[in-house]
Amino acid sequence: MRTDGILDRLAALREADAPTHGGRVLSYVYDPGLPELDELAAAAARAVQPVNGLDPTTFTSVAVMEGELVALAREMLSGPADGPDAVVGSVTSGGTESCLLAVKIARDAFREAHPGARPRVVAPVSVHAAFRKAARYLDVDLTLVPVDPGTGTPATADLVAALGDDVALVVVSAPSYPHGVVDPVADVAAAAHARGVPVHVDACVGGWVLPFWAAAGGDTPPPFDFAVPGVTSISADVHKYGYAPKGTSVLLVRGRDRQRRQFFATTGWPGYPVVNPTISGSRSAAPLAAAWAVSQALGTAGYTALTARCVRATRALHAAVDGIEGLRVVGRPTGPLVAVATDESVAPERRVDPHLWADAVRSRGWVLQPQPGLVQEDGARLPHTTHLTVTPVTEAGLDGLVPALVDGADAVRGAPRPDVGAALAAVAGSLAAAPGAAAGAPTSDEVWAALGPLLAAGDDADPGVGVLPDSLAPLMALLEVLPGPVAERALLEIVARVAEPPPDGAPR
Ligand SMILES: *Cc1c(COP(=O)(O)O)cnc(C)c1O
Repeated sequence: MRTDGILDRLAALREADAPTHGGRVLSYVYDPGLPELDELAAAAARAVQPVNGLDPTTFTSVAVMEGELVALAREMLSGPADGPDAVVGSVTSGGTESCLLAVKIARDAFREAHPGARPRVVAPVSVHAAFRKAARYLDVDLTLVPVDPGTGTPATADLVAALGDDVALVVVSAPSYPHGVVDPVADVAAAAHARGVPVHVDACVGGWVLPFWAAAGGDTPPPFDFAVPGVTSISADVHKYGYAPKGTSVLLVRGRDRQRRQFFATTGWPGYPVVNPTISGSRSAAPLAAAWAVSQALGTAGYTALTARCVRATRALHAAVDGIEGLRVVGRPTGPLVAVATDESVAPERRVDPHLWADAVRSRGWVLQPQPGLVQEDGARLPHTTHLTVTPVTEAGLDGLVPALVDGADAVRGAPRPDVGAALAAVAGSLAAAPGAAAGAPTSDEVWAALGPLLAAGDDADPGVGVLPDSLAPLMALLEVLPGPVAERALLEIVARVAEPPPDGAPR
């Protein structure tokens, strides 16, 4: 067996990745800026490498670590530890799995109470995409309530008006990913509770940072946790502001009986009796061990100290954006997420397009995240924005980041959003002309051919990797105007092709 060279190759591949440390990428990664925490997490993961998290009765370390991580999350989120309303929980692979399971619990409870009826979930349109995924996977309907285009906040009355006998669950966010605003959790929960409708608070991104926000010097967030009557479950991702490596979220549920609907168990096959609290069967204990170790090391004091850096950096970024003519922070976010839109109160030639800005800032070494605009059910358009996730290391980098934000805006002020009319016509035209489209479904190759001109994929100098163009603004503008199903089909084709082995089998 040859092992030499393999890790060298991996190191070379990693060189091509976006930087995970140092705060250059303001989404996806959550860097506390503590290298010893990375070492601890790696050592903990290594210590359980051969363990199968499938069976905590055989590998009891898994049960102990899971219990301790859940206990910490429960305390942080004001969950009672005993009584009929005891909050119990489990560790999942990430936010999406926690959200899926929250919907499964509610769907199964609804079906038991209303045999034959079709369950519906109600949420603001700003709810994380994981709930759209849950609705498709679990075959429930989803009502998406509009939010205020200026602030990203849903009106309690609109959410309450959407309640009905067929509603299995209301979901609110603390905060929402697109705009960083905490939804009106207490008011919605009061109304839902009065009607017997359970409420899930999606605190995937906020769950490990909002509990410390006020103690860290930030504004006091509105109530959003189990102290609010009527909140029946909360998701909180340890792999975000819990600073654990990817692969862990906690789903907390009020009431053991409610939570048991999350499980799958069967003795109805000829193999071992199966009991799974989550979607996976066999699962790595490494993410759990790493998250457990990180949370033990930080504790409440450590999380508060890291949150203080986020509070200061977020404040500085708000001030920086407020100082840039032509841009505005969307709404009044609570917590470390910032969405930036064009300030339409200034003259057109003084406005800054947030996606052109993101491209300009990227060319200066900082990666922001463009979010396309969206027309809501009520016809009101949510503006396209650029998202920044602030982490503890953002603070130390402000000296570089703020000038990049300012210079980037200066470079594109007054420039119009890319006109994608021709590209739209070209893509739509080639898709419509594709033979497969006649049957309602262009083939993978037809979709890829239609997209080719838009992407750098045909670039021989860089086959396979770096598929996306340097400038994302035109692609985002196009995604916004393409019909949803076409845009989704196009995007999934790009992502599927990125990971496909090259046809000639050659390493890339
Ligand atoms: C990140 C996030 C999710 C989904 O989490 P993943 O860990 O990416 O699966 C769900 N809801 C919110 C609000 C999030 O920020």
